[in-house]
Amino acid sequence: MIPRRKTRQVLVGGVPIGGDAPVSIQSMTSTYTYDVDATVRQIRQLAEAGCDIVRVAVPDPRDTAALPAILEQSPVPIVADVHFHYERALEAVEAGVHKIRLNPGNIKDRRHVDRVILACRERNIPIRVGVNEGSVVERRDKDVRGEQQAELAADYRSHMIRLMVATLEDYMRIFDENDFHDVVLSAKSIDAGMVIDAYRAVSERFDLPLHLGVTHAGPPETGRIRSIAALGSLLSMGIGDTIRISYAADPIYEVEDGKELLCSLGLRNRVEPELIACPTCGRIEIDLIKLVAEVRQKLSTIKTPVKVAVMGCVVNGPGEAEGADVAVFAGKGRGIIYVQGEQKRTVTEPEMLDALYEEALAFAARVERGEAELSHTRVNIVPPDPLPRKDGTIPLVVSKTR
Ligand code: SF4
Repeated sequence: MIPRRKTRQVLVGGVPIGGDAPVSIQSMTSTYTYDVDATVRQIRQLAEAGCDIVRVAVPDPRDTAALPAILEQSPVPIVADVHFHYERALEAVEAGVHKIRLNPGNIKDRRHVDRVILACRERNIPIRVGVNEGSVVERRDKDVRGEQQAELAADYRSHMIRLMVATLEDYMRIFDENDFHDVVLSAKSIDAGMVIDAYRAVSERFDLPLHLGVTHAGPPETGRIRSIAALGSLLSMGIGDTIRISYAADPIYEVEDGKELLCSLGLRNRVEPELIACPTCGRIEIDLIKLVAEVRQKLSTIKTPVKVAVMGCVVNGPGEAEGADVAVFAGKGRGIIYVQGEQKRTVTEPEMLDALYEEALAFAARVERGEAELSHTRVNIVPPDPLPRKDGTIPLVVSKTR
């Protein structure tokens, strides 16, 4: 288990962030918040996919007016994302939202921040203070802007990080003077390296819980790499208490990838099947890529974290599939299926998908009935002669270790 950096804890609805709480997953709706039905539908989909907290944009009074109906139907805590208009924060608090997000880059007036803090204190609502690379440079005061730009031109990364931390320090002074400490911080950028350095700097300066994210990461195809590079690095250093992966796509991908990231790092227990598959190579003798896609689809109906391995041959496959509960090792047009090291059946390529699914389903049912244990037996296959016999079958020697 990765040791986590100690932070204060805040409570967002029933979900704790920071302290010894597990790292939570957040996402944001892409609907118009005033469209209650569409927003609730998306919140439910995100929650169903494993999202712990959902944020909604409230740019307009009609959005905050929709919050009571949304809150009544939401299965997870809701955060109101406020920019420019502090009044939206007050309305959201009044509606009973579970957290407010403020951007110091566009809600700067001390009296306005004081009013939001006061309202949140009365209702025990935490506030996330989130700076972004794109909004920390001064826009109105030309002299300040000129100075900042000259510094950034000299050494962009270190000055940008200093600027983000200084912006948070200035803003947090207001919170300290109000003796308000239910705060979560974030410092996002589009650059993965900058995100890592910025959060490291913020974590050294504050003991508040951190919301990790890469801003404007792009479509999943590229944003995924950026996000996992940044968030994975920080989480592996023990930094980060809640995460939001953001994509220019259906937010469901943000939740799916966030969950996979946390599971991969051992920061969250799997609740669904885990699929291991070989990347294929010149030894492959079946259409494994197609099979893997089909197996993945089928496994989504199983709600037990069975580990399933789909391996293209017996050369490296057995070693790489060690620890799998259910595994298929394919050969020339056929495959042998194992359940926790026990050879179950040999099937032809067209039968492979259904046979593997049936075995996974049956094993999951045995686990649920308490008749089998996940990852109890390791698949330990003695390195075989990889050449198929004359009749086309593959000689495998299997043994089990407990
Ligand atoms: S398991 Fe076999 S087919 Fe798959 S990548 Fe490894 S050696 Fe190649």
